Amino acid sequence: MKRRNFLNQSSLGMTSILVAPHVMGCSSKAQGSAAARKNSPYVISTWNVAEANSIAGKALENGVNALDAAVAGVAFEEANIQNTTVGKGGAPDRDGNVTLDACVMNHHGDCGAVLAVENITHVAALAKDVMEHTPHVILAGAGARKFALERGYTPEELLTESSRKDWKKWLEKGNYQPEINVENHDTIGMLCCDTEGNLSGVCTTSGLAYKMQGRVGDSPIIGSGLYIDNEVGGAVATGLGEEVIKTVGSFLIVELMRQGRTPQQACEEAVQRIVKKQQGKPDFQVAYVATNKKGQVGAFSVHSGFSYSMYKDQTNQNIKSNSVF
Ligand code: ASP
Repeated sequence: MKRRNFLNQSSLGMTSILVAPHVMGCSSKAQGSAAARKNSPYVISTWNVAEANSIAGKALENGVNALDAAVAGVAFEEANIQNTTVGKGGAPDRDGNVTLDACVMNHHGDCGAVLAVENITHVAALAKDVMEHTPHVILAGAGARKFALERGYTPEELLTESSRKDWKKWLEKGNYQPEINVENHDTIGMLCCDTEGNLSGVCTTSGLAYKMQGRVGDSPIIGSGLYIDNEVGGAVATGLGEEVIKTVGSFLIVELMRQGRTPQQACEEAVQRIVKKQQGKPDFQVAYVATNKKGQVGAFSVHSGFSYSMYKDQTNQNIKSNSVF
């Protein structure tokens, strides 16, 4: 079952509502004060990820900081073997290797990333470990896996019976099209604002299904798949990573917000930059979600079909994004 279908059937009180930027209040001016703690924390994530959002949202409500809450939230989907685009059960590359990518960024501007990691399910936590326990930002491939084992992560077979079956079926034709439609990508990008008014984010994925061995998309690339500036806001991407990388999409959105655009306007501009470069209607999907320090939220995508999840005040909503097409 594709992740979209699976998640469409999940409950947790998710309701679809119309598109509208939401104002929630995430001001860092009141950081650490009693007033700041009265601010409701919130979570926004790409796609319909009710469970992950709830885990992160509840953690925030219990006073957990934004980054730890986000890592805990996405861990649910990383371990969910019915999710074919993140973590264990994610689609392999064309040679049958499941290789995962992730990055994290916190309110200090510190960040960590892991690229093309095999046998480790919780790569968002591993990216956080790179940030906190190495002098580096990025570890890739065998080195990232070795670091994980040193940190005590348990190696796992990430190719499941079902994902192996799907891969074998794909091999019958082996038709490699580096295009992503709305059914075969669902990277989780999650932005959290905690009770202190601080923003952090996480992005985690198995990347493009049946990709060339060694291919890495935007998701673990700071500035492309994710960017946070705690003075301004944060953004995360999903969709065809190559197009996001070419426009440094998440950094672009944060910089546009710095210049005064709302998150909605900034997401729209970032998507339009991609679309304008194409001849006609693109045959791929790219989508962004963003939030600023006023607590406003925006989202936009190339094609319809994208939605994002928002958790606030113990309530999850799945909100349809507007799109160019
Ligand atoms: N952005 C991811 C990648 O290109 C995939 C996705 O979000 O669909 O690897």
